[in-house]
Amino acid sequence: MSIRLSRSIVGAAEAAAVTRVITEDGYLGMGGEVQRFEAELAAWLGVEPRQIITANTGTAALHLAVQAVVPPGGEVLVPTLTFVASFQAVSGAGRVPVPCDVLEETGTIDLEDAEKRLTERTAAIMPVHYASNPWQLEAVYDFARRHGLRVIEDAAHAFGCRRHGRKIGSAGDMVCFSFDGIKNITSGEGGCIVAFDPEAARLCSDARLLSVENDAEKRFAGTRSWDFDVKRQGWRYHMSNIMAAIGRVQLSRLDGEFAPARRALAALYREELSGVPGLALLQTDPDDDIVPHIFEIRVLHGRKNAVKARLAEAGVPTGVHYKPNHLLTLYGGGRVSLPVAERLYGELVTLPLHPGVSREEVLAICAAVREASA
Ligand SMILES: *Cc1c(COP(=O)(O)O)cnc(C)c1O
Repeated sequence: MSIRLSRSIVGAAEAAAVTRVITEDGYLGMGGEVQRFEAELAAWLGVEPRQIITANTGTAALHLAVQAVVPPGGEVLVPTLTFVASFQAVSGAGRVPVPCDVLEETGTIDLEDAEKRLTERTAAIMPVHYASNPWQLEAVYDFARRHGLRVIEDAAHAFGCRRHGRKIGSAGDMVCFSFDGIKNITSGEGGCIVAFDPEAARLCSDARLLSVENDAEKRFAGTRSWDFDVKRQGWRYHMSNIMAAIGRVQLSRLDGEFAPARRALAALYREELSGVPGLALLQTDPDDDIVPHIFEIRVLHGRKNAVKARLAEAGVPTGVHYKPNHLLTLYGGGRVSLPVAERLYGELVTLPLHPGVSREEVLAICAAVREASA
C-alpha cells in the first residue's frame, strides 16, 4: 500500500481558477476574488459578508480574533490537546494561553478543569473542535456567560460540521476556520474569522491590513487608502486573490464531494474498528453531523507504538494529534500535570483520512490495526 495520511484534493477546476486570476484579472493581491470568496462563505454559513474576515492562515485568523476581544495580558483557557497554532495565536498577541485538560471520551476541553484555572485575568475560552467534534458547545457558551468570558472557537477541523442541525460558524462569538492544504477545504493556505460582534469584525478586518482603517473595503472597490491614520498594531495577514480563487472552487465541492467522502470513510473506520479488543474510539454526539478532518483511534494497554510500527510495515502512515502543549518548553515544559491529555497522548493514533483514500484501503488499514492491537 502507498497511502498518504492527508493531502490536498485539487485539480483542473482549481488550476483554471488560478489561471483566470492571472490572465484575466492580473491583480494577485487582495481584491475582487477575495471579496467574492467572503460573500460565498457568508451565504454558505447564512451570515452577512461583513462578518467574514479571511486571512492568510488559520493561525492568523486566531491571532486577529484574540487581539480583537482579549485585553493585553489577558488569559485564555485553551485545551492542551491541540495544534501549537492555538497556543501561538494567543501568546503571539501578547495574551496568556492557560492549558486545560480534556475529556477522555472526546479530547475536547474539560470545563471542570477549566473552571479551576479561572483567575481575575481570565478573559476568554478557546474551545477546539478536536477531530471536528463540536462536543458540548452550548456548555462552553454557558460557561463563558457565567464567567463573563469571550469565546474564540478554534474550528480549524470543523468547516462543514453541524451541531444539532446548525452549521459551525453560523452562530456564536468568534469562530475561526483554517483552509490550509489538508483541511476540509483549502485555499492553499488560508483561514477566516466569523465574527458576531460588529466592533470585533471591524477590528479584525482592519488588523489584517496593518490596522489601516477600512482598507479592506477600499481594496474590494479597487482603490487604496493613501492618507490614513493607524491607531493600533496590525499585521499583513490578508488573503490573496490567488488563494481565494482556489478556496471558491473548494467551497463549491464541499457538499457534493468532500463532505460525503470524508463521512463515508470515517463511518467505515467506525464500523470496522468498534468493539475491537484493545482499541477505543472517540465519542461523538449522534445529533451532530461531523465532516471529519482526522480519524483517531485510542490504542490501549501500551500497544500504541506496536500498532504504529505494524502499520508502517504495511506502508500505512500514521500521525500524532497532538503532543499536549503544556509539555512544550514555551508553555511550561510539563510544570503542570494534565493527566487525561497525557494519557490520551500515549494512546491516540491518527489514521489516513481524505477523499483520496479508497474503501479498500480503509479495510486493509483496519485489518492491520486489528491484528496489531490484539
Ligand atoms: C490547522 C490548525 C490550526 C491553524 O491553521 P493554519 O491554517 O494551519 O494556520 C489551528 N488549530 C488547529 C486545531 C488546526 O488543526
